[in-house]
Amino acid sequence: MLNSYVPKNLVSDNKLTSKTNDQLFHSLFDFSLEFIGLLSPTGVVLEANKTSLDFIGAELNDVKGRYIWNTPWWQQSQEFKKNLKNAIKRGNQGKITHFETQHHGLNNQTISVEIFLKPLMTTSGKTAYLLVEGHNITSFKKTDQLKKELLSSVAHELKTPITVLKLLSQLYQGRINTNGHIELSSEDLLTIDQELDRLTGLINDLLDLSRIDTGKFRFTFTEINIKQLLQDTIKKISLYARNHQLSIKNLPNVSMVGDLNRLQQVFINLITNAVKYSPEGKIISIDSYIDNGKVIIQVQDQGIGIAKRFQTLIFNKFFQVIQKQNKGFGLGLYISKEILKRHHGKIWVESNVGEGSTFFISLPIISLSNQPENLKN
Ligand code: ADP
Repeated sequence: MLNSYVPKNLVSDNKLTSKTNDQLFHSLFDFSLEFIGLLSPTGVVLEANKTSLDFIGAELNDVKGRYIWNTPWWQQSQEFKKNLKNAIKRGNQGKITHFETQHHGLNNQTISVEIFLKPLMTTSGKTAYLLVEGHNITSFKKTDQLKKELLSSVAHELKTPITVLKLLSQLYQGRINTNGHIELSSEDLLTIDQELDRLTGLINDLLDLSRIDTGKFRFTFTEINIKQLLQDTIKKISLYARNHQLSIKNLPNVSMVGDLNRLQQVFINLITNAVKYSPEGKIISIDSYIDNGKVIIQVQDQGIGIAKRFQTLIFNKFFQVIQKQNKGFGLGLYISKEILKRHHGKIWVESNVGEGSTFFISLPIISLSNQPENLKN
């Protein structure tokens, strides 16, 4: 595609003639991925490069000789037109101006652009032309927006447990007895413990995300007994799940090679989600079976369920079916999926809205003696 714009016979005998110089300049002008245009000091379009013309699906003749603010590039808002006219005014005073705009192009695409308007001066100091350069900053803006959303979500999530801890500490300050001691109720101690666990969990999720992104998500593989792993996990989580009924069915007495803490993290995440997304008193059942050299473990709840269209999306980072619920960052399932990938395992869900969800995990059963190279530490 690009080749068709390379001027033929550009360098005939290793010498650039002024004609070929001109052609070279024009191809650079057209090839540039930036939007470039040349205006008279009054703002009339004299030139526009191919990138700019293609964006609105126009030919040079469609825009040449028109005031730039009357062309299709600048019909998006009166405010942007005003900024442009001010920049032209400043250009006539020999000043460079830059500002951000949004432009609508073909196929309804809208992009964010950083515009630079620079005067090209004569030797006597007059503005001869105005050069308009536009850099497409859409992807930068999107990343910036994502960062802002992440920051606001982090601040929001961390604030809740900290507020609870602060309230409890204030409450207890009022209960200091004459000996300078306080008595903590077991209920409050539990709340403190749970809120601290929540804070730790949120911080760990963020640390894991950064480890995954920077390739520093490290694993220590050993031989693990699945039954033992599940029993230990259930023990750890039982206090958290005390308002639900945990029903443990088959726990297979088989071994596999894996990272004990990381696999425990996956099961804790699934059971925690079952608790978070189902009403108190409901059953959460944990079952497993062997299938074709793999152990399949399932965590089933009787909660709100997940609509079909979200059932693969929930494994993407930051995806939450209902946002801003004070229930996490939408990272747990993404991290779980990454952990299972490193174990040659899989995770998926079957669910119906209003009936509950069943999360499945499959892991290969292999012993340490014949573990594949890529599972070694
Ligand atoms: P978090 O729970 O922190 O938002 P996860 O990655 O663990 O993050 O889950 C992503 C989303 O998937 C949740 O926000 C929720 O919308 C949905 N989800 C996860 N588990 C369940 C479940 N057991 N029942 C219903 N929805 C769930």
